[in-house]
Amino acid sequence: MFKKSWALIIFTIFLLLALTVSFLFIRPGKIAKDYNVIIVSIDSLRADHLGSYGYSRSTSINIDEFASNAILFENATTQGGWTIPSYVSLFTSTYPSTHGVSSQKSNISEKQKMLAEILKGYGYETVAFAENPGVDPIIGFDRGFDAYHFRLNENHTYQDLKINWTKFEMTDIKNFLKEMGNEKFFLFIQLESVHSPYLPNAPYDALFDPDYNGSMPTTEDFYKIYYGLCESDKKLCRASLESLFWLLADNQPSSLISEYMGNRGQISYIQHLRDNKIKVYNHDHIIALYDGAIREVDDFFGEFLKELERDNLMNKTIVIFTSDHGEEFYEHGGYIHSGGHVEITHVPLIIKYPGMPETGLRIGTDAKLIDVMPTIFNILNLSVDENIEEQMQGRSLVPVIENRETTAERDVFSESNILGSFKKSITSGKWKLIHDMKTGNSELYNLEEDPGEQHNVIDKYPEIAGDLKKRLFSFIMGKGNNS
Ligand SMILES: [Zn+2]
Repeated sequence: MFKKSWALIIFTIFLLLALTVSFLFIRPGKIAKDYNVIIVSIDSLRADHLGSYGYSRSTSINIDEFASNAILFENATTQGGWTIPSYVSLFTSTYPSTHGVSSQKSNISEKQKMLAEILKGYGYETVAFAENPGVDPIIGFDRGFDAYHFRLNENHTYQDLKINWTKFEMTDIKNFLKEMGNEKFFLFIQLESVHSPYLPNAPYDALFDPDYNGSMPTTEDFYKIYYGLCESDKKLCRASLESLFWLLADNQPSSLISEYMGNRGQISYIQHLRDNKIKVYNHDHIIALYDGAIREVDDFFGEFLKELERDNLMNKTIVIFTSDHGEEFYEHGGYIHSGGHVEITHVPLIIKYPGMPETGLRIGTDAKLIDVMPTIFNILNLSVDENIEEQMQGRSLVPVIENRETTAERDVFSESNILGSFKKSITSGKWKLIHDMKTGNSELYNLEEDPGEQHNVIDKYPEIAGDLKKRLFSFIMGKGNNS
C-alpha cells in the first residue's frame, strides 16, 4: 500500500514536471518541423530566361522539372537591384532603405538578425558556399554560419569561379551532404556562373549560337588576356575582367581598353556604354553565351537534386531556388544590372517543401525576396521572437500557397543604387512607377499592356503617377515599413 502510494506520488510529480516542460517549450499547435532548409541562388539570373517562365530556348530543363514538382511564383521581385543589397534583404527580410547596406564598405547591422543566425539558434548546422564578391564575409554575410565557404578567400581565382566551379562546388556540396547524415542543416549555395562576363564551358558556349563566327574571344583566349592583365590581383581585377569582356565584345580599339583599365574598368565602361547608348557589337552572341551559362548551371542543379534524392533528403527538406536580380541586355539602353526595370527586378522564385498542398502550382500573386525568410519560418512552424517578427518586412507566402489568401495586393518596392543609378520603383496592380532619385525623373508603365516596360505613359496618366509617387515617398520616409 505504502509502496503503491509512493509510486503514485512519484508518477504524478514526473507527469507534472513533463507537462510543465512541454508547456514552457512547446506551444500548442506549433510543433516545429525538423526540415532542412536549402537556398540555391544563381547570381544575375533573370526569370524570363527560364523555360518555366516562358523562355523559348531550352535553358532550364532541370529547373523546369523541379518547378513542375514545386510551387512557382510568377511575379517575384528583388528588393535590391544588385548583389549586396539584394542578399542582405533576402537574409534579413528588410528593404535596402532599412538595412542600408549598399557597398563592401558597409556592414550588416548587429541589430538585424540574419536567417542563418536564427536557424542556428534552433539547432541547425549552417553552411554556405558563396562565390560573388558581393557576399563577402567582410560585410557580415557569414554571421550565423558554422562554415561560410567564400570561394575568393579559399585560394580560388575568379577563373575557378567561372570555369572550374562545377568540379569543386559539386564535390564539396556532396561531401557536405554526406557529413550531415541525419543532422538538420541550413545550406546556402550562391553561384556566380551566370554573372558577367558570360563564360560558359564547352559545349554550353556554342549551344545557342553554334554558327557564330564573330570576333569574341573564346573562353580560353579570354583568360590568357585576363591573366596577362591582372594575375596578381585576383579579387579586384574582376572589374577589369568584366570591362575587358565588353570592350572585346564591342570590338573596340586597344586605346579604349587601356583608358578604361586604368579606371578599374567595369563601372566606368558600363557607364560609358549607357551614357552613349551604345549597343554592343556582338549583342545576340552575348545573350547566347548568357543562356549557355544558364544551361550549364541548370545541369549542375539537376545533379544537385539527384544527390538530394539519393540521400533521401527531398522528403525532409525545403528547397528554394531563386536569384538576387536579373540582367539587362539593352532593353533600356544598358548592360549588366543597374536601374529598376523588369529585366532586373523580376527574379525566379520556386519553392518545394514536404507536405505542400499541390505540386506544379503557379502563383501569380506578387512575391518578394523579403518574403523568403518569413515563409521558411512559417513552413518550419518556428515561433521566432517578437523582435524578429518586428524586423521582418516581408510576409509568409504560405497563406497564398494554401489558398487562404489569394487577392491580397500589395505595393511592391524595389531599390537600386549601382553604377550611378539611384532608382526606386513601386508596382501596384498593373502600374509601375520608377523614380530616379538623382535626376528627379519618373517613368510610368502599364504592365498589363506593356510587360517589358517599353512605353513610358507618365504624360498620359499624371494622376496615377502622382499617387504612386506619393506612396513611394511615404515608403522611403518610413524606411520601407510597408510590406
Ligand atoms: Zn548579383
